[in-house]
Amino acid sequence: MAKKIILLGPPGVGKGTVADKLTKKLNLPHIATGDMLRDNTEKKTPLGIKAKSFMDKGLLVPDEVVIEMVRQRLKQDDCKDGFVLDGFPRTINQAEKIDDLNFDEVINLQATDDIIIKRLNNRRVCSKCGSIFHLDYIKPKQEGICDKCNGKLIQREDDKDEAIKERLKVYRSLTEPLISYFKNKGILVEVDGSKTPKEVFESVVRVVS
Ligand code: AMP
Repeated sequence: MAKKIILLGPPGVGKGTVADKLTKKLNLPHIATGDMLRDNTEKKTPLGIKAKSFMDKGLLVPDEVVIEMVRQRLKQDDCKDGFVLDGFPRTINQAEKIDDLNFDEVINLQATDDIIIKRLNNRRVCSKCGSIFHLDYIKPKQEGICDKCNGKLIQREDDKDEAIKERLKVYRSLTEPLISYFKNKGILVEVDGSKTPKEVFESVVRVVS
């Protein structure tokens, strides 16, 4: 049976880390709108050029841009047996535009602002393969170097203080209302995202199996 899962939650709560492991376990594509947008900004595509100024400030990229990008991606063959959406939807309007897809579960990862700010400040990502590290609990074996591909680890522009504050504000006003939206549909499951990556993943696996 096709499995369609949404990972919901504030920036930095661990959606990317969970989605990465979950998609490997379930053999499904990991559809992360942030990664898709960053890929476009790096390649300086028209979409990427449009998105960059919003992303660097911690603001949402306009709905019409992101919705079209996701709809195109979901039409690809590898999505026919399901997928895990990470970072989409982020507004009620985006959610309404994919209402027809009949999701199985929306997993809402939660953690306090203090935890999130610390995690985002200490997050490092590989500039080559996008792998996520954390200076406290997902430490790279060699400082500044990706364990998987030897790429250089960097701090994302939007993981710096000012942008983090903006992203949390945007999350509270535009994305948090999705919790009630999916609760009303009866498909929302809460998972405590403040635990260790291993514990969070185990909880998520229990939810989907
Ligand atoms: P993420 O990697 O998921 O934290 O996303 C990084 C940035 O990409 C966000 O702060 C937004 O600027 C943009 N972005 C990612 N997903 C969306 C979305 N669904 N809607 C609008 N903007 C998005």
